Amino acid sequence: METLREAAEAALREQVAADAPEPLRRALHELLVHQVELEVQNEELGRAQLALEAQRARYVELYEQAPMGYCTVDEEELILTANAAAVAMLGLPCEELLRQRFTRFIHHDDQDSLYLLRLRLLKTGAPQSLELRIVKPGCEPVWVQLSANVAHAEGGIPVFRLGLSDISRIKLLEVELRIAATTFDSHEGVVITDAGKAILRTNKAFTRITGYAPEEVAGRQPSVLKSGRHDADFYASMWDSIAVSGSWQGEIWNRRKSGELYPEWLTITAVKDEAGNSSHYVGTFTDVSARKSAEDQIKALAFHDPLTQLPNRRLFTDRLEQALALGYRHQRKGALLFVDLDNFKNINDTLGHDQGDLLLKQVAWRLNSCVREGDTVARLGGDEFLVMLENLSDDSLDAARQAESVGEKIRLALARSYQLNHSEQRCSASIGITLFGGEPHESSAEPLKRADLAMYQAKLAGRNTLRFYDQEMQAVVTARSALEVGLHTALEQRQFVLHYQAQVSGQGQVTGAEALLRWVHPERGLLVPADFMSIAEDSGLILPLGQWVLEAACSQLAQWAQHAQSAHLMLTVNVSARQFNQKSFVDQVLATLVKTGANPRRLVLELTESLLLSHVDAVAAKMTALKAKGLGFSLDDFGTGFSSLAGLKRLPLDELKIDQGFVRNILTDPDDAAIARMVITLAQNFGLKVVAEGVETQEQRNHLASQGCNDWQGHLFSRPLAIQEFDHFLRSGLD
Ligand code: C2E
Ligand code: MG
Ligand code: MG
Repeated sequence: METLREAAEAALREQVAADAPEPLRRALHELLVHQVELEVQNEELGRAQLALEAQRARYVELYEQAPMGYCTVDEEELILTANAAAVAMLGLPCEELLRQRFTRFIHHDDQDSLYLLRLRLLKTGAPQSLELRIVKPGCEPVWVQLSANVAHAEGGIPVFRLGLSDISRIKLLEVELRIAATTFDSHEGVVITDAGKAILRTNKAFTRITGYAPEEVAGRQPSVLKSGRHDADFYASMWDSIAVSGSWQGEIWNRRKSGELYPEWLTITAVKDEAGNSSHYVGTFTDVSARKSAEDQIKALAFHDPLTQLPNRRLFTDRLEQALALGYRHQRKGALLFVDLDNFKNINDTLGHDQGDLLLKQVAWRLNSCVREGDTVARLGGDEFLVMLENLSDDSLDAARQAESVGEKIRLALARSYQLNHSEQRCSASIGITLFGGEPHESSAEPLKRADLAMYQAKLAGRNTLRFYDQEMQAVVTARSALEVGLHTALEQRQFVLHYQAQVSGQGQVTGAEALLRWVHPERGLLVPADFMSIAEDSGLILPLGQWVLEAACSQLAQWAQHAQSAHLMLTVNVSARQFNQKSFVDQVLATLVKTGANPRRLVLELTESLLLSHVDAVAAKMTALKAKGLGFSLDDFGTGFSSLAGLKRLPLDELKIDQGFVRNILTDPDDAAIARMVITLAQNFGLKVVAEGVETQEQRNHLASQGCNDWQGHLFSRPLAIQEFDHFLRSGLD
């Protein structure tokens, strides 16, 4: 400016004569200055114009190249301008795009929102924004953020300026986040820790399952849930696996805040940073206690006896195998007790299975109450139970003593009376015992076999007793199984005979005989009932065998009837409970009498006390039916069983037999003498005959006679004899 002014003054000095009048000079001067100033202003304007244009171009370029879409639309939504980004977003070439309606590009579901936005914009004049979807033919809708403001063009007509930014990625992330959030709050428990295993976050399911609120565990280690059920090795190998493979999965027992233990299925995954280091750990878990308890139920069914809930053979064998392995490792002995009830069959047969079941349950309960917590009681089936005692002494003798004392405790517990629904019953047990744990590779079958053998030995020893396994036992039982096979053949090949033992009265008259079964074994010679009767009972062979005895005895009676010296003889036949309990027993006896032509009045059936265990009425009815035909009834081995006096009174008996066990020591044992005396008194009171068995000495006979017993049977008079010998004995008479 200054230079321009100086230039104007110089020009004036040249053009205006120095002598020109002062007013003219001044006017001219002012004019010149004004002109110069105008030129200067023109020049400045031009420069400003240039700058403006440059600026505008820059703006247009910015507008054009902006990453955001811009467009302007008029009142009727017609697109007036659009930048390149908007053109790309809307998907039409620029020239086609202009004059298109903007709404044409908006998703059907977003049209209403856009309409409302326009109304708000016009009403308030304030900028508005909205998320909506742009649709292009052939493409997925694209989410954009629309920002809009209103400007007024000439004539006050509104023009809308719209900004469009693509938010599809944000939208996608939002969805993912929502999914993640939903997953996080799913039914699975989730716990997120930092690299140092400090808990950062937990979800609702975590709280529901563990009982801990998020703030209670935040910052603490997940070990707050430790159950104590797993050892350090377990956790160490779990974290090893996570370190190596990045994750671990498995079942783990944890502890709820309430203290309750529960099983969970847990997956732990390490979250790695870019460098591959674990930055976080995510644990997800489900509470599997419900599934577990269902599994447990299935297991219980598969491994337990449904009646007593005791472990079954399968589970017992597993436990035994474990005990064998551990016992050897820790050099500690264990014992196996094979418990078999003695007269359970009778209870089952006479009282019915429901009462038998009731008794088995009580047996199970008693067995459990006799052992320690770590010991195992199992039911093998039927009336067979197993008891395994672990951690006994490492010294065999001490261990045997320990096992014996438990065995004796069991024996006594089982021999106590059982209260069933309608009656009180007794049922003893035979117990076989073996030790295990000494051998390095002993299989579970070995001790089981040994205990079984020992149990048979206990049975042979008279039941209600304990026996230990030893080698001899093995031989006995091998013979036993051979006998069972032999019994079948024996019946077919008629290897049985009856021996007759005289019954003597008063001054020595032979009043009759007891028929006693003998097996003429092709290899072993003459076998007595003790050698084979229990096998016959167990295998059911007692039924055909009993029938054979009855027939043979009746035939003998028929023969005796033909000779004067024997026509008066009574013949006593032993009948087992099982035989008597057959429905058709009465008919069988009557048919046999008819078939053989024997006189029913000469036949006496000897029953055992086990028959009195139950259904006394049914037993009495059968007896009455047979008595009506003239048969007599004797109760064998009286005093050894558990018969109740009330039951005894209801049976139509003719005689009682004092068991030889009491007779044997009648002179030396005051208890036996007292029992014998009592049986005699009882018989007299009931009006029954009383016969003493096993009388071997004159002193015994005299003693019995002094007590009022004048009918005897025993070696003093005669041993059981084969029929020819017996005939001979009869002929020769008593000395
Ligand atoms: P039981 O009916 O008590 O028979 C008496 C047993 O005592 C017989 O044994 C007999 O030989 C024995 N005995 C007799 N007198 C004396 C004696 O003075 N001293 C000694 N020590 N013993 C004597 P056995 O023949 O061995 O029979 C044993 C048991 O077998 C019988 O006992 C009976 O219960 C049963 N039995 C025998 N035969 C049969 C049968 O045909 N059917 C059934 N169901 N059981 C039978
Ligand atoms: Mg008898
Ligand atoms: Mg007897």
